[in-house]
Amino acid sequence: DVKSRPGALPSKCGSTLNMAANIKVVVRVRPLNEKERGANSRVVVDVVDDTMLVFDPKEELRPFFYQGVQQPTKNVLRRANKELKFVFDNVCGQTASNKDIFELTTKDVLASLMEGYNCSVFVYGATGAGKTFTMIGSKENPGITYLTMEHLFYTINSFEKERDFDIGVSYIEVYNENVYDLLKPSKTPLQLREDAKYGVMVAGLTLESINTARELLNMLENGNKNRTQHPTDANAESSRSHAVFQMRYKTSSQARVVKLSMIDLAGSERASATGCVGERFKEGANINRSLLDSKLTRLLKDSLGGNCKTVMIANISPSSISYEDTYNTLKYAARANKIQLSVKKNIVDAKADWRCRITEEEKLHITLESH
Ligand code: ADP
Ligand code: MG
Repeated sequence: DVKSRPGALPSKCGSTLNMAANIKVVVRVRPLNEKERGANSRVVVDVVDDTMLVFDPKEELRPFFYQGVQQPTKNVLRRANKELKFVFDNVCGQTASNKDIFELTTKDVLASLMEGYNCSVFVYGATGAGKTFTMIGSKENPGITYLTMEHLFYTINSFEKERDFDIGVSYIEVYNENVYDLLKPSKTPLQLREDAKYGVMVAGLTLESINTARELLNMLENGNKNRTQHPTDANAESSRSHAVFQMRYKTSSQARVVKLSMIDLAGSERASATGCVGERFKEGANINRSLLDSKLTRLLKDSLGGNCKTVMIANISPSSISYEDTYNTLKYAARANKIQLSVKKNIVDAKADWRCRITEEEKLHITLESH
């Protein structure tokens, strides 16, 4: 529907119930960095096992710091000692490699892709939490985009007798509601179009045809360098940019092109600051509305919902320096997980107004029975 207004909900993606059931939520805790190993910080995330973590464990009650500044005592007393238990599809501790994350996330997604469903993988979290490390990584330590593509080539080469497939990749940035080509940088934004065969398209976008995953390594690294950075404050600006890698896969027997989208979202601290918690899950992909700006929503219109598989990887720091950001990310991820669980349980009740139900659940507070 070419006329759909920017920001409209995905319309052809089937029921919301179905969509929610197809979300997988994985939390990744990165190792402490040098600053965080300093005296003024403590570890506030305890990975209990491969599905559970405790946020702000009791026994380490001390003043906490937010962005390096000690918070008022009142805040400390209220916030600390929470010992909140969170359960997700998977929790990965500091020793997890990008390969481990791949095994738990996009490896499954490839099966859906082969069956003809578009799939999306999001990395969510505050600036510095490890999103780009997870998604893109480096040539020496490639992220899940490379690992996924490597596995895809391995899979198709093992079952396609003739090399009867075509793989095209693109890498774009959504910044300030504008779309830019990261593979062929230009200051002129590109326009979105919709096409019966190819789905949502970006007019004039570079679509590189590739035959091996290796060809991606330079592309991703250079593309990532082309993301928006303000000369005086790179971090503040780059944290507001979303990067979207898309892969289109087609064989001659398929009527339709299948898409995999890997989205490195803008830093979530921007969304936390708006405080609109209740709004977060009312829109399409269970991705924070203030994060999924309308261009991104449109771009992913054919890749969310219905039988599309969605994976959300929430990245966090284990340090008290990022206390609020981590807490917000965990709450957000827990909601996504909770929706998925409650939907699975209630799947027969297809007519239930799930939005109302979620709102009720939000009031109940996340999952956190203490004992
Ligand atoms: P984000 O994209 O969320 O802003 P980055 O991925 O750029 O954060 O990570 C911030 C810093 O932390 C980078 O220097 C990165 O190399 C490092 N880092 C992130 N995750 C890990 C990890 N799992 N292991 C080692 N270093 C990491
Ligand atoms: Mg980043």
